[in-house]
Amino acid sequence: MKGPTRRRFISSAGLAAAPAAAAPAPSKKGYRRSGFAPGAKPEKLTENLYRFEDTCNVYLIRDGAAAVLIDFGSGKILDHLPALGITRIDWILHTHHHRDQCQGDWRAVERRIPIAVPYHETHLFADARNFWRNRRVFHLYYVRNDFNTLTEDLPVARRLTDYSTFRWGKTDFFVMPTPGHTLGSITLIAAIDGKKVAFSGDLMYAPGKILNLYDTQVNYGGAEGIDLGIYSLARLREQKPELLCPSHGQPLQDPDSGMADTVRKLTAYYRFQSGEPVEFNRPYAVSPHLIAHHLTTSSFYAILSNSGKAMFIDYGAASGAHFGNMERATATADRIRFVEHSIDHLRRAYGMKSIDVAMPSHMHDDHICGFPHLMRHHGARIWCYENMVDVFENPRGYNLGCILGEPFKVARSFKHGEKFRWEEFEFEVAHNPGHTEYQMALYANIDGHRVAFTGDAFFMPNPRGDGTMRHNLIFRNHVESDSHVKSIRTLIDHEPNLICPGHGRHYLVDKALLLATEEKMRRQKDLFEGLLPEGLTNFGLDPGWVSLYPYQLLAAPGESQKLEVRVQNYKPSAMKLEIALIAPAEWNIVPDVLKFEAPSNGKAAQAFQVTIPRAWQPPAPRLAIAADVIADGRYLGQITEAVVEMKA
Ligand SMILES: [Zn+2]
Ligand SMILES: [Zn+2]
Ligand SMILES: [Zn+2]
Repeated sequence: MKGPTRRRFISSAGLAAAPAAAAPAPSKKGYRRSGFAPGAKPEKLTENLYRFEDTCNVYLIRDGAAAVLIDFGSGKILDHLPALGITRIDWILHTHHHRDQCQGDWRAVERRIPIAVPYHETHLFADARNFWRNRRVFHLYYVRNDFNTLTEDLPVARRLTDYSTFRWGKTDFFVMPTPGHTLGSITLIAAIDGKKVAFSGDLMYAPGKILNLYDTQVNYGGAEGIDLGIYSLARLREQKPELLCPSHGQPLQDPDSGMADTVRKLTAYYRFQSGEPVEFNRPYAVSPHLIAHHLTTSSFYAILSNSGKAMFIDYGAASGAHFGNMERATATADRIRFVEHSIDHLRRAYGMKSIDVAMPSHMHDDHICGFPHLMRHHGARIWCYENMVDVFENPRGYNLGCILGEPFKVARSFKHGEKFRWEEFEFEVAHNPGHTEYQMALYANIDGHRVAFTGDAFFMPNPRGDGTMRHNLIFRNHVESDSHVKSIRTLIDHEPNLICPGHGRHYLVDKALLLATEEKMRRQKDLFEGLLPEGLTNFGLDPGWVSLYPYQLLAAPGESQKLEVRVQNYKPSAMKLEIALIAPAEWNIVPDVLKFEAPSNGKAAQAFQVTIPRAWQPPAPRLAIAADVIADGRYLGQITEAVVEMKA
């Protein structure tokens, strides 16, 4: 942008621009600087809280001669510190990644001021150049304004994790997730001079107003940031801030009515453009002890004991919009953002006192992305079917569909056919493959119903369909030719009358529906076998019959790690394997070739020891390696791979 245009923008934004310096300031990093600066002076809001109007509002919280800044703008605030008697800035805390919040951070870097950023936007600060290398401009349908990202990488000293507390001296900043203006935005809430102050970024501009609409659009024609913003503002109102400090606009004393007004207007706008906002979705009772919610990203269920304890079956994102948008915005090697939902309502409307246990129907992130939160903030224990344990505890191990990139511990696991008691209820667990190998069916008698929680195995029949339950196929999830047949047979044997699926509402079933579905699943098996090479059906369904474990190896030069080759042999005879690892030439791989046998219709595993020399320089932060395979004397080539992520 040319100088005059820039100045016109500043004056139109109500800021008096200081004359530009004669020559642009030099930069060590190679980018020139404009030398523009705002003309305002810091304005005292309360005894120890100042606002400085820059490209965004920069808030300064002081404690004697030290201070913390919320956002940084051009960095001009640094020149005003002597007048305020401040000699030290301990931290800069950012509410979101837009350039107007942080474009002057290079000045802070020069002065070695540490910078903390919202956890889920870290890559847009620290890895900005990589963002620009990969951000597509042609064929633009993902219209989210991540284009307002820094031009240079910024060293990030700390990530501000949702629902955590950032402590600075005597001041605690609560990190509250408030997506809306951006998907990763946070609000920082702290008691300052006896007042509860919320630094809300650009969630809201003024009573009844937001800063702009274009930042709220993520997908082509969408209004995602409006929906998410209504939800965030509703949660922020529950915090009852006494002073709201936005990134643009005037601070609001007694902000509740202004926030309510904004929610009201955003809601009217969203209903006009898109439909019903997430904020108005609530869980409902299927029967007195079984509460359901199907408008969350996946359906989730709370079994309520008379003691007030709850067992959750699944607990994913607050809505499809929360999940879909957060999933797409997640950095390559990171975990999805999760925002709490439904729990307050379960307490208020249904008398839930605690969340004792959470069980996943299956391993998919849309069903379990709230589990780490349930453990951390509600003390829930995780119980699951046995084959899910390692996927949860070592998510880097696998390349399957929909893995949650955040490990969590499982307290108890169950085998196929195992029965157990929780509170006054009796349960039985069954393996329920098809949609994914890593799925259970959970059977229970609740309020006179024989209930089956079946995850994503089978869904409610289409009213205009063929009178069978719907299902889907995702080969990356590990499906074998008879997976669905096994699951429907187990379901028939357990005689449920009520199905609680992983998506959609609960529905009643009778034997005729289950038998018709079984028939359909047998047809599917016949179709698989008809299409795929004779006797090799499962090899044609499972892309991971040979795999490397862990799939995502986290490594550093100087380290030595075990890398396992896992083989699932679907043949009715033993399979002889010879496998070599294709990796950077400097690495030390032992042995040179692995030779072993996989039993008929069985599994086998052998390991390479991989040593990365200390002096080795990675060509990229993340790279691929492959396994070259000979099976039963046939050279199949590099049919499987792993990625190696270098530790930062
Ligand atoms: Zn912004
Ligand atoms: Zn699902
Ligand atoms: Zn699923």
